[in-house]
Formats: sequence, C-alpha cells, structure tokens
Amino acid sequence: MKTFHYERATTVAEAAASAAKHPDARFIAGGTNLLDLMKLEIETPRHLIDVNGLPLDRIEETPEGGLRIGALVRNTDLAADLRVRRDYGVLSRALLAGASGQLRNQATTAGNLLQRTRCPYFYDTHQPCNKRQPGSGCAALDGASRQLAVVGASKACIATHPSDMAVAMRILDAVIDTVLPDGSERSIPIAEFYRAPGDTPHIETVLRPGELIASVTLPAPVGGRQFYQKVRDRASYAFALVSVAVIMQPDGSGRVALGGVAPRPWRSDDADAELANGAKAACQRLFADAHPTSENQFKLLLAERTLASVLAQARA
Ligand SMILES: Cc1cc2nc3c(=O)[nH]c(=O)nc-3n(C[C@H](O)[C@H](O)[C@H](O)COP(=O)(O)OP(=O)(O)OC[C@H]3O[C@@H](n4cnc5c(N)ncnc54)[C@H](O)[C@@H]3O)c2cc1C
Ligand code: SF4
Repeated sequence: MKTFHYERATTVAEAAASAAKHPDARFIAGGTNLLDLMKLEIETPRHLIDVNGLPLDRIEETPEGGLRIGALVRNTDLAADLRVRRDYGVLSRALLAGASGQLRNQATTAGNLLQRTRCPYFYDTHQPCNKRQPGSGCAALDGASRQLAVVGASKACIATHPSDMAVAMRILDAVIDTVLPDGSERSIPIAEFYRAPGDTPHIETVLRPGELIASVTLPAPVGGRQFYQKVRDRASYAFALVSVAVIMQPDGSGRVALGGVAPRPWRSDDADAELANGAKAACQRLFADAHPTSENQFKLLLAERTLASVLAQARA
C-alpha cells in the first residue's frame, strides 16, 4: 500500500473544505471497498478524509412523507429500520441480499452506492483494464465475461455495477444529496447519477472531484407489493448474476429494475409499461439494445425467468 495522509473530519463543512484543499483526496466511510482497492494499489489516494465522525448517521422523515437516509447509515441499520421494512420493503430485501452480516454492519449508504465493479480483470493489475488504467484496453472483451454486462455497456468496458442496494434505490426513484467542495449543495436523481461507460469507463458517476454524498432521499412510499430476488453462484456472500426488483400495484401496474446485467441499475419506462403483459414482454424492452457475449448470453433468459417467478409471487 502506498503512503497517504489521513485526516478525520467532524463537520460537513470541514470535510468539504479539506476536499477543496486536497483535489486528489478520497473520502473513507466503512472502508470495506476502498481499503481493499488501496492494498492492491488500484486506488492510490494521497489524502484520505475519514467521514465517520460526521453527523450523517440518521434516518429522518421528510416533510413530503419520504425518508432522508444519512450517508453514514450502516446497511444493517437501514435494512432493519421499521419504516424501511414497512414502506420500502424492496430496499430492506436488497440490502439483506448483499455481502455478509459483518460487512453490512460496516458498509454505509454512500459507500455502497460508490463501490467499484467486481470485474476480475479490474482487480488483476497485470491485465489491461480501461477502468483501472484508461486507454490500456479491456481484457474482458476476449476473456472471461460470464459475470459481466449484457446491456448498457460499451466497447471500452462491459463491467457491471455490483450494488444490490442501488437497484432498490433506482426502482424507488431515490435522490442523492451532495455537498461540493465550495460548500454548495445539489440533489441528483439516481436515474442520472451513474454514467454510461462510453470511452471513459473510469468515470462512473456524475459526482465532481471532492463532492461529498450527505444523504439519500426516498420519495413518499408508493405502496404495492415489493420484491427483490437475487440469483448468484452461492446462496450467500456472492454478487448477483442477475437480480430483479419489482413493485406491483393492485391494479396490475408496476415497476421493474434489474441488477447484475449492466454498468448501472437497469430500468426502462417502456418495460414498466409492459409489466402487466408479463416477464417476456418486459424483458424484450429491458434488453432491446442488449449485446451479450457468448459467455453471458444466459443472463437474458435468467433475468426473464427470475422476473416471471417474481410476477407469479406477486399474483399469488
Ligand atoms: C467479500 C465482499 C462481498 C460483498 N458482497 C456484496 C454484495 O453481495 N452486494 C453488494 O451490494 N455489495 C457487496 N459488497 C460490497 C459492499 O457492500 C461495499 O464494500 C460497501 O457497501 C461499501 O461501503 P463502505 O462504507 O465500506 O465504502 P468505502 O469502502 O468506505 O468507500 C467506497 C467508495 O465510496 C466513497 N465514499 C464513501 N462515503 C462517501 C461519501 N459520503 N461521499 C462521497 N464518497 C464517499 C469512497 O471514497 C470510496 O470511493 C461486498 C463486499 C465484500 C468485501
Ligand atoms: S470490463 Fe471494464 S473493468 Fe473489466 S477489464 Fe474491461 S475495462 Fe476493465
């Protein structure tokens, strides 16, 4: 691991000011992803700003009837919150499908959104990887791509986003509230938060350098029956091959979002409109522009069958 300077911030203003002073700084929260990347020298920040002392660990009700989730709320606490379990069941289920109990105790809401891909070549520093080293190429294109994206990727990168929580946040239309190094604030709908990889897969979100996530806001509950089903190679402690988040309303309308198939949580209005016509119709929309590899083509059928299974549960 390369040497770095470590600092603890105690207020949001202090964290923002430090980010302004150190343009190459990174925030560290639970550290469950960033520390691994630093040990492998995939990320080599020279300045770390520890945000664990900031007062961002609460879940509060908003005047609009939603919830504001502090960036530091741990995944375990978010999944167990009674309001989340009652009104945002898809979020609680997605969180509990992720990682392990110990990791969820440590992992934070912001860190979970910003975790990096699990593409094996991203972690293998002897392989070309445009995300790790821009312009070096993509070993996955002619390599092992079973786990990787079937839709929404580019010729430069076919990695998936690994977060389960982000898929639930996407179906709930969450909004990410941030503070910039100059102290100004902005709110980013999650639909606009993750960038398509294009020619610059190393730039994964619309966050600017030094921009701190302060909270994630959920709109007022939409009701309905909420599901999160994850298919993976092991029953626990594994990332999704495919995951399906669904919210079905009594009138037959609904929403669907997929994980494990794209560089970001995958959703389309057209697919939502087709949901009443079944899994095949919705998946035709979700995968309208799919470009699977020979190794991961199975994900198209796997997603359709998983969605069919969830829709059957919703009807039961
Ligand atoms: C073995 C293993 C299995 C896992 N399995 C799963 C799984 O099945 N599903 C799943 O979804 N996840 C899984 N994870 C990933 C885990 O959920 C993430 O590592 C965790 O959520 C990251 O949160 P953190 O607080 O530890 O982030 P950190 O490691 O502290 O930070 C991650 C990134 O977020 C940035 N960051 C943190 N806080 C802020 C902030 N407030 N503002 C701006 N930037 C910030 C950091 O700079 C860094 O870039 C697994 C992890 C491991 C190690
Ligand atoms: S798919 Fe993306 S992360 Fe994986 S090797 Fe290619 S460029 Fe790197």
